[in-house]
Amino acid sequence: MKAMHGLCALRGNLVFAPSLGELTVIPKGYILTRDGVVEGIYQNLPAGCPAEVINYGDALITPSFSDLHLHAPQFPMLGLGMDLQLLDWLNTYTFPTEARFRDVEYAQTVYHRLAKELIRRGTTRVCIFSSIHREATHVLMQELEKAGVTGYVGKVNMDRNSTPDLTETTEESIRETLRFIEECCAYENLRPILTPRFIPSCTNELMAALGEMATAHPAVPLQSHLSENQDEIAWVKELHPDCPQYWQAYAKYGCWGEHTIMAHCVYSDEAERAAIKEAGVWAVHCPDSNNNIASGIAPLRKMLEEGLNVALGSDIAGGAKLSMTDVATQAIRLSKLRWLESGKQEAFLTVREAFYLITTAGQAYFGAQPGFGVGEPLHAVVFSDGKFAYNPGLSLEERLERVLYLADKSTITAVYSAGGQAEL
Ligand SMILES: [Zn+2]
Repeated sequence: MKAMHGLCALRGNLVFAPSLGELTVIPKGYILTRDGVVEGIYQNLPAGCPAEVINYGDALITPSFSDLHLHAPQFPMLGLGMDLQLLDWLNTYTFPTEARFRDVEYAQTVYHRLAKELIRRGTTRVCIFSSIHREATHVLMQELEKAGVTGYVGKVNMDRNSTPDLTETTEESIRETLRFIEECCAYENLRPILTPRFIPSCTNELMAALGEMATAHPAVPLQSHLSENQDEIAWVKELHPDCPQYWQAYAKYGCWGEHTIMAHCVYSDEAERAAIKEAGVWAVHCPDSNNNIASGIAPLRKMLEEGLNVALGSDIAGGAKLSMTDVATQAIRLSKLRWLESGKQEAFLTVREAFYLITTAGQAYFGAQPGFGVGEPLHAVVFSDGKFAYNPGLSLEERLERVLYLADKSTITAVYSAGGQAEL
């Protein structure tokens, strides 16, 4: 990471989403920063402003992306194992892959690569699952911090229904999690998050202990999975016959509240969605994963209309795409199938809305304002989109659409994170 000193202005075509469905474009505008903190967004710099100008010419500059749900130790299985559904997929492919992260050296190699790839794709904020291994989780955090990725990292808890080499004792899981939380003061831009894998992976005793930790550490949020797959939901009902709805199996242990992240919510009905909204829980839609392992199509439009906190996740490696631009267009594609399935009742996602979900909506989870937040450290991506099929005279909104559908990492020529410039 390269620090930004003094007054500095990025010049380019600025595009951001102030709210759902709204788009602000400032052609050849300026983002003025002081020591990496945004001072203002301008069409023209104030007269006599002594800022050093970094001129990106005709490039597009957007806020960087937030990925609110992904599994770091599944990076080695990216693009593999899409022939099974969730529960078999976990046992056959995922658990053996994650078990390898007891080897810290192996973790180092994988996580170094993952952190770089996130930055090269413009993702600067994450809520990420590690494995059950505390040491490898620190390796992940060190690599993310070096690369410039910020956000929350969770050491996963699993004390049942896993393979023997990926199962903790209850006592070990509690002890290692407490130690992990204490050790996380070592990081500048990364924080710990409690991470029970999902209800079937955690005994009641472990869930109760995690709920107590959540109460004792109000700054440490919690992430998990909810209502992803029908077999999973049936299993949770068997395990918790006292809970008519899946979410209640989290809520009864105190693992349900503001800033709690629940990935998927594919089968969350009206009552479960109301519980999500009332508690201020975040529903994270992972369209590529839901498609790949045939989980289903989440009621995204209903969630948005009902005012739930919603953002997007790559959910690698159920998801095969690390780029949030790919995740955004996958969300659009899947919403069109849902639109057809609903007899054209549930409107599909627009490009503006998908862009909002991977920028403004995601960054709100981390307390950031919409767009390029004034008074906040700069998070931004520069797209040099001139290589796409020749078509001069496109509007900036059309160019944004093309970036979402066509950009790969070679289109990204600069990334700013937490007020510094990341190395690509
Ligand atoms: Zn997941």
